[in-house]
Amino acid sequence: MNNPIELHCHSRASDGVLGPADVVRSAHAAGVRTLALTDHDTLAGLDAARAAARQFGMHFVDGAEISTRWRNRTIHVVALDFDPTAAKLRDGLAMLQEKRCSRATAIAEKLEAVGLHDALARAQALATGGQITRTHFARLLVEDRLCRNARQAFTRFLGTGKSASVQCDWVPIADALHWIHAAGGRAVLAHPLHYGLSTNQIGNLARDFKLAGGDAIEVSTATTAAADVVRIGALAARCGLRGSAGSDFHDPAQGWRRLGSASALPVEVEPVWTSFRTPIPAIG
Ligand code: AMP
Ligand code: MN
Ligand code: MN
Ligand code: MN
Repeated sequence: MNNPIELHCHSRASDGVLGPADVVRSAHAAGVRTLALTDHDTLAGLDAARAAARQFGMHFVDGAEISTRWRNRTIHVVALDFDPTAAKLRDGLAMLQEKRCSRATAIAEKLEAVGLHDALARAQALATGGQITRTHFARLLVEDRLCRNARQAFTRFLGTGKSASVQCDWVPIADALHWIHAAGGRAVLAHPLHYGLSTNQIGNLARDFKLAGGDAIEVSTATTAAADVVRIGALAARCGLRGSAGSDFHDPAQGWRRLGSASALPVEVEPVWTSFRTPIPAIG
């Protein structure tokens, strides 16, 4: 059974392959009834997604996945249920979008050097006006057969420390939390198991996140093993953080992260959505 609550997914406004309205349509077909669209560092897909959700009678939550730094690492913070017109948040995201642009230029230069022709223009075309991400470069590397798949594109070229990686100093977590809270939203520490951190380091990250005013931690994504849902749920309870759940869907061709496929929260975890300004519909 799919989870009727889906609070982490991507559209063409960043590195997803579906347009925002098609993400909503697919989520509805998958049984999702409460949906947040959370594109990387942009709110550009929200209006279209919100309008589509209204058509389908779904509850829509404004969202974004914000790129931050913590101890020299990139950490993602999912922002939920904020006012999308709030100036501080919009200005902050505009700054991150500029950083994305200059980083894309630098990555493209490095990829040209390893044989990916016309990298920047093609990444821009692929992004169709949305944010350019490393995912777009990965798709081009696969298209040109320089890599077998996206995973290899990251292990060979785009991952941290690899030949086409470009350090980006995003913003401190505290700044992102400030923007989110000034916009009336909730801040979720995204996919804690995706940063290559030890159990100890994850604990430190969660504690720092809570100390900085963070609200919740993503306890389950589509790829979180059942034992890890329990483990991160316990960490949430220990740190006084609420829990969130979302698949991190990008592409219908990726059968391992379908919309609505994040498992439910353990009962002892307080859901982030019970703190939303607008209550979400009761789960039937
Ligand atoms: P960016 O925010 O531009 O650095 O791109 C990060 C995105 O790249 C993530 O949101 C994922 O969608 C994707 N990504 C990161 N690491 C990997 C990986 N090892 N394999 C496939 N995709 C990845
Ligand atoms: Mn992504
Ligand atoms: Mn992420
Ligand atoms: Mn994501």
